[in-house]
Order: sequence, then C-alpha cells, then structure tokens
Amino acid sequence: MDWEEQVRQHGIPEWPYPIRYGEETEVAADVLILGGGISGCWAAIGAARKGVNVVMVEKGAAIRSGSGGSGCDHWINTPHPGSPITAEEIVDWEIKFNGGYSNGLSRYIAARESYETLLDLEKMGGKIRDTEDAFRGAPFRDEKTKFLFAYDYKNRIHFRVWGSTFKKALFKECSRLGVRIIDRVMATGLLTEGGATGARVIGATGLHTRTGEFFILRARAVIDCLSRHQRNWTFTTELRGISNFRPTQIVGDGHAMAWRAGAEFTLMERSRATSFASGDVYPTYGHGNAMNTWFPCSMVDARGKEIPYVDREGKVLKHFHERNRPAPGQKFLGERTLHYEHKRPGLIEDLEERVKKGEFVLPFYADLGSMPEEERRAIWGLMVGEEGRTKIPVLRAYTDAGFDPERDMLQSYMLLGSDPMKGSVRPQDRTGGEIGDAGGLVTDWDLKTNLDGLYAAGDALFGGNYHYHAAATGKYAGRKAAEYAIKAPGSAVHRTQVEEEKGRVYEPLRGSGEIEWKELNAAQCRVMKNFCSFYKNEELLKLGLHWLKDLREKEAPRVRADNPHKLMRTLEVLSVFTCSEMIIHASLARRASNRYLDFFRLDYPEVDPPEWNKWITIRQEGGAVRTGERPLDFWAPLAENYEKHRD
Ligand SMILES: Cc1cc2nc3c(=O)[nH]c(=O)nc-3n(C[C@H](O)[C@H](O)[C@H](O)COP(=O)(O)OP(=O)(O)OC[C@H]3O[C@@H](n4cnc5c(N)ncnc54)[C@H](O)[C@@H]3O)c2cc1C
Repeated sequence: MDWEEQVRQHGIPEWPYPIRYGEETEVAADVLILGGGISGCWAAIGAARKGVNVVMVEKGAAIRSGSGGSGCDHWINTPHPGSPITAEEIVDWEIKFNGGYSNGLSRYIAARESYETLLDLEKMGGKIRDTEDAFRGAPFRDEKTKFLFAYDYKNRIHFRVWGSTFKKALFKECSRLGVRIIDRVMATGLLTEGGATGARVIGATGLHTRTGEFFILRARAVIDCLSRHQRNWTFTTELRGISNFRPTQIVGDGHAMAWRAGAEFTLMERSRATSFASGDVYPTYGHGNAMNTWFPCSMVDARGKEIPYVDREGKVLKHFHERNRPAPGQKFLGERTLHYEHKRPGLIEDLEERVKKGEFVLPFYADLGSMPEEERRAIWGLMVGEEGRTKIPVLRAYTDAGFDPERDMLQSYMLLGSDPMKGSVRPQDRTGGEIGDAGGLVTDWDLKTNLDGLYAAGDALFGGNYHYHAAATGKYAGRKAAEYAIKAPGSAVHRTQVEEEKGRVYEPLRGSGEIEWKELNAAQCRVMKNFCSFYKNEELLKLGLHWLKDLREKEAPRVRADNPHKLMRTLEVLSVFTCSEMIIHASLARRASNRYLDFFRLDYPEVDPPEWNKWITIRQEGGAVRTGERPLDFWAPLAENYEKHRD
C-alpha cells in the first residue's frame, strides 16, 4: 500500500512511540563510545578487554549500522607473514599518492595492527578465508592459508574478504564482552569539565530518535567514532537514494560537537568534484566498470572490441594475469594510487580521445564471460556481494532478473555521465567526506585529541579511510582510552552546559513550520556551491560565512520538527552547517592553491608553493577561530613513536 492509500484508508498514523521530550536518562561509563559503526564496535571491544565498563551509543541499530554494516570486499594495506611488504611501505604509497596529505600516524597504527585485527575478527565469526575451497588453484589464493588477495597477486597485501559477516560478528562480541549498546540515540554534544571549551571531556549528551528523551552520558573517557562530514555541497534524498555512497545519517555530528568543545581539526579545506554526490549516477558497483570491486574486469565497446589494459609505463598488457602483477622493476601495487611508484594497471588513459576519434564505440560493457572462470566468480559473486550495499540490490536483484555473468554483458555508464566512479560532473557538485580521505580530528600517538579525555578512531580522524583502518584504530583507541579512564578522576556534569544543550536540541520543536529540514539542507548546499566551490577567494569565502549565519538565524527557526525523527533530521542539518563553517574557516586559512587538496584560491593562484606544504589546523575557542599549522610529517619517526605508545 502506498502512502496516499494508507492516509485515505486510515488517516495520518499516530507517532508509534511514547513521546518523552525533556525527560532525562543518565548513564555512567568508564569509556563512552560515540557511534556503533566499524571503529565504534572495535573501540568498544578494545576497551572492554581492559576490564572497564563500556557504553556505546548509536544513532541507528549497531548490528548493521554505518558504512561497513552491510559489507566490505577489500581488507587492504595489511602486511602479514606471507608478504614482503612492510608497514612503512604501506604508509609510503598513501603519502606519495596524496602528495604528503595523508594521515601517516593512523595509517601506520592500522598497518601495524591490521593483520592481528583480521585474525581476531575471524575468531569472532567473521569469514576471511576460502574455507570451502571455492577458489582452489586460483592465482589470487594462498593454498596454505586459504586467504584470497586482490590487485597485486605477487605481494598479497590486499585481502578479499566476506565482509557481510563482519558487523554481526562484532556486535556479538561487543554483547559477549558486556558492552552496553544503546541503539537509536543520536549523540548531540560533548560534556566538558566545568562546561568550558577546551577543557577535559567528561561525557556526552544524546537524543533518543524515537521517544525524544534526553540522555546524559557521563564517562571518564570518550571516543569519537562518528565518521565524517557529508551533504555540504549536494543533498537530495529523492535523487541520491541508493546512489549515495556513505549512509546519509553520517553528516558530521561528531565533527560539529568536537568543534564546539574546542577540538583541533585539519584537512577540512579538501573537497573535490566527483559524481558520488551528484544525484544521477547509477548505484556504485551496480553497472559494468573496471574499478575497485570490479577490478580487473574486461571491458569491451559496443562492437565487442576489448579496451586494453596498460601498465604504469602505458605498455599494453597482452595477458589477463598481467593486470594483477607489478610492472618490471616495480615493487608493489597500491590499491588506487596514481603515483608512478605504486600505480596499478588500468584501462588506457586516452580512452575518451579514442572514442572521439571513433576507435571505440559507446556504450561500453563489462565482459565477465570472456574472463578466466575463477576471476569472473571472484567479481560476480564474492566481491559484488560482499561489498557494502551490493548483496541484495545488485547481486541478488540482477541474478533474480536473469543476469548470467557467463553469458550476459553488463552495460557501463563510463563517459555517459552516470558512472559513480569516473563520471564527469560540474565543479560545484563537490564532495567532502562522501568519498576518499577527508578532514577530521587531529590526534597524538594515543589517538587522543587535544582535549583531554577525548579520543578518535576510524573516519572521524583526518585522512581516515577504509575498513581495516577503522577496525585497527578503533581497537587501539579503545585500549588507550581504557588505560586513561582507569586513572582519570570522575567529574561532575556542569548543569548549565546540560541546560544549554537541551535548549539547543529541543529548539526545532518550536519552529514556525514554514519549511522542512530538507529545504534547509538544500539552502546551505546552495551557499557552499556558490561561495566555497571550485573558485575561491577571500571575498567569496567571507560571503559564504555571512550567508550561512543568515540562514542559521533567519531560516533555521522556520523548520519545525513534528516528531523525534524529524528532530534528529533537523539537528543533523545544523551539524552540516557547523561543518560547512569549519570548511570555510580552513579554506580562509590556507592562503595558497593546492593540487592534492583540489583547492584553488583565485587570490593565491600559485599552486603548491613549498612554504604552504603543511597542515593547516583549526579549532574554536570562546567563539573565535584559532588557526595553526603542523609539518606534514608531524608524526615522525613512525616506528619509534608507535613502539613507544602501542601498549
Ligand atoms: C558502500 C561502501 C563500501 C565500502 N567498501 C569498503 C571496502 O571494501 N574496504 C574498505 O576498506 N573500506 C570500505 N568502505 C569504507 C569503510 O566502510 C569505512 O571507512 C568504515 O566503515 C569507517 O568506519 P567508521 O567507524 O569510521 O564509520 P562507520 O562504520 O560509518 O560508523 C559510523 C557510525 O556512527 C553512527 N552515527 C553517526 N552520527 C551519529 C550520532 N550523532 N550519534 C550516534 N551515532 C552516530 C552511524 O550511524 C554509524 O553507525 C566502504 C564504504 C562504503 C560506504
């Protein structure tokens, strides 16, 4: 029955849960985890193993929530006994790929602890080996361990895994260890000692997204596992739907609350024009392509002519198996790097030109049928199936509709504007945290922020990305926060801070109701598109701040939340506003253009002047923005620092 029919027959349904606006529930923990995604669950496990009392709050349902809740097909960057690649080399490819703008600190921790974390996951019930011998004899299988690998079959650092089994296993382990999981509670703010900005973090506040009840969460240590900012430049629920990459409820609530509390951020000025947020792309991994999950799929044009793969020298690869081998003289292949040293084979780079000349005819197709049988099954079955959000809407739906990978080709939207991996977009259709490395919290080697008592893990960290990284940094932050909590004194909640946050949280209940939260999000996107887009200068950026403030003051009060769900949605949009303001402050502070950050200032057109090759940091203090800087390798030396802090 559709909505209109439902209303015709039964009227508008009552809100199905008791409403408890303003009522308080107090919870105390040694370690409080904000966000029950991949890093959150691992942080809870890491902390609980230290014997402390752990509480985890999650906006959705932790059993499947977050970017990795429905799956993961690659567990990358993992040195292990069967590979010659070291943790230092792993960090190196990421750093080179990003021109230095990668989080070497958290990537190193992740690389050092990734393998043991993977084995740990297996003990909890996560499937990481080809135990049924479905791929026996395949060139990407290690016959002894039954591990399967991707991308680089020689060096074997990127594992193919059955990631749809992971989140349930983590959830079960959290429950077994006695972690108190509170689902459907949106963390809204951080509590600090004496209610002061920049002071020790002693807990958080939350809103129950079904009852509207207010949570006061007291803790000796808090870990921000709330991922990153999204929806700053582009947002429509109608257009994006399944085309959205990261879940839409990840908006940067954690960034917004940590900013208000005085935490330090970097990389916030990075954004880029990608079709991931454009609204009209086909679901990621749901059409023929040769990118990550589908690598190294054979692609053909409309006449059946194969599109060649080339190595980093541009040499055409004649044999299929060369696609997964380093070129002569090349040590190993990074997962997605364009840097010469670790660049992996790909489709010819001048494909578009050759289409224009008539050498290849659009549209293209993924030709799974012509591939070696085990490679075909690895893509259509294992990878498209285990990758997030693909098992049901892609693998099952296409199979049920009769798609047979041995016989059928799958159409590609490459060059047609609807390819989420490579489609062209307008420069204003930008993404921030939606995809790739993004801005986030700065931490020390304990993964502790500049605020005492506040730790961070996973995608909440600046430059944080990937499942293996979220898992390993989560576990690490969990044990570090637990050690801190064991020694930290208890602290009384500052009542004025609670009252102020309650006032902020319930404000949208009093809105005039003239507009909806979606319109408010769209309006703020318009500001970012106009004033903080491809072209930036001081005047534009300051106008951006002006209009965001104007919208906050004049339009936000016009949104009314009629129920706890809409209240959550409205508060999310306010987080989007805060993150956009942070982005603009960071953009004002970087007075140079930077190619790696896709950052162009018309008033500072010189690209990558050496004196600007540094991190620009921002934090808030008493309403004023404080900017700072750090050398790009502020974490060095990697191994020495890690050894000093790991236990
Ligand atoms: C479709 C898809 C496929 C991917 N595939 C791979 C892959 O194959 N390999 C790989 O390495 N990486 C992959 N990634 C990336 C990987 O999943 C993420 O890097 C990883 O999940 C990050 O973990 P996290 O804990 O930081 O964030 P998440 O796992 O996203 O968890 C964040 C959690 O915070 C919750 N939350 C948000 N706001 C609030 C709030 N205010 N209060 C309470 N809770 C809140 C969210 O509901 C969510 O559960 C993929 C991502 C996507 C989206």
